[in-house]
Amino acid sequence: MDAQTSLVGVVGHPVRHSLSPVFWDAALRHDGRNTVFLAFDVRPDDLASFVEGMRVAGARGFNVTLPHKAAAFALCSERSDVAVQTRAVNVVVFEDGKVTGSNTDVHGVTEAIRDLGVELEGARSLVVGAGGAGRAAVHALRRAGAEVSVANRTRERAEDLDVPVVAWSGLARAAGEVELIVQTTTVGMDGEDSVIDEPALRAAAGHRLRAVLDVVYRPDETPLVRSAHAAGLVAADGLGMLVHQAAEAWQLFFGRPAPVDVMRRAASAAAGRS
Ligand code: NAP
Repeated sequence: MDAQTSLVGVVGHPVRHSLSPVFWDAALRHDGRNTVFLAFDVRPDDLASFVEGMRVAGARGFNVTLPHKAAAFALCSERSDVAVQTRAVNVVVFEDGKVTGSNTDVHGVTEAIRDLGVELEGARSLVVGAGGAGRAAVHALRRAGAEVSVANRTRERAEDLDVPVVAWSGLARAAGEVELIVQTTTVGMDGEDSVIDEPALRAAAGHRLRAVLDVVYRPDETPLVRSAHAAGLVAADGLGMLVHQAAEAWQLFFGRPAPVDVMRRAASAAAGRS
């Protein structure tokens, strides 16, 4: 570091579990950039002061994670089309006096599904969850030409998304009627719970279901991914999405493509995977 070192980072609450500083640091070093990436644990009441502080300090921008994505949307002076459509901001960039909010989770979820080998055009899909990640997944799937339905514990939030709604109690049956499930609730972060159990996944695999993306990531496989693999399905957790959304954030910060493979290897190593 020297007096020219620039600043990027991630803001969340809590943020101690974040893998982002590790794989961003690896990518910044690989690219020879004189930039540091720091994690900031900021309470919701302090988010506006944080944004202003980063702007005044001359930061290039920052990533936004739970629980600040909707509040960050409100604090930006400009918003990308995707941010407007999802009403969530996970990247803020400072440029020319403007505070611009973007949503790179949509790119992240699209690429993570592509990594599963799923052809999205015309595919039937079910998004579980209607929070920020759920809205990003619905937008990504529609944009890629997939048929989308959504299920959410709180039905009204799903109805807000303008796609067919599946009853929360009907999840297991609905699983057999789609080729792809994208799980976007926080369920599974504890390493124990799953929105759909293994017997239901086995039954669904006997019908139409082929692939499951769980956007949750943790050191071990999530229970849903473990059950999906046991049921013979193609499945992945949210680590790939995390890297892909970061790669698009890098492009927004620096105006050039990210070293995605370096990010992916460092993220996998930080999560304790080979
Ligand atoms: P959010 O906006 O707070 O939404 C939370 C969602 O989880 C809502 O649909 C909520 O349903 C549901 N939920 C919470 N507890 C539940 C329970 N006990 N049973 C059923 N549903 C429950 O959060 P978010 O930003 O969408 O994030 C959700 C998850 O996605 C987090 O684990 C986050 O880390 C992950 N994520 C990963 C990436 C990545 O890059 N891999 C990116 C973004 C998010 P209700 O509406 O009924 O409360």
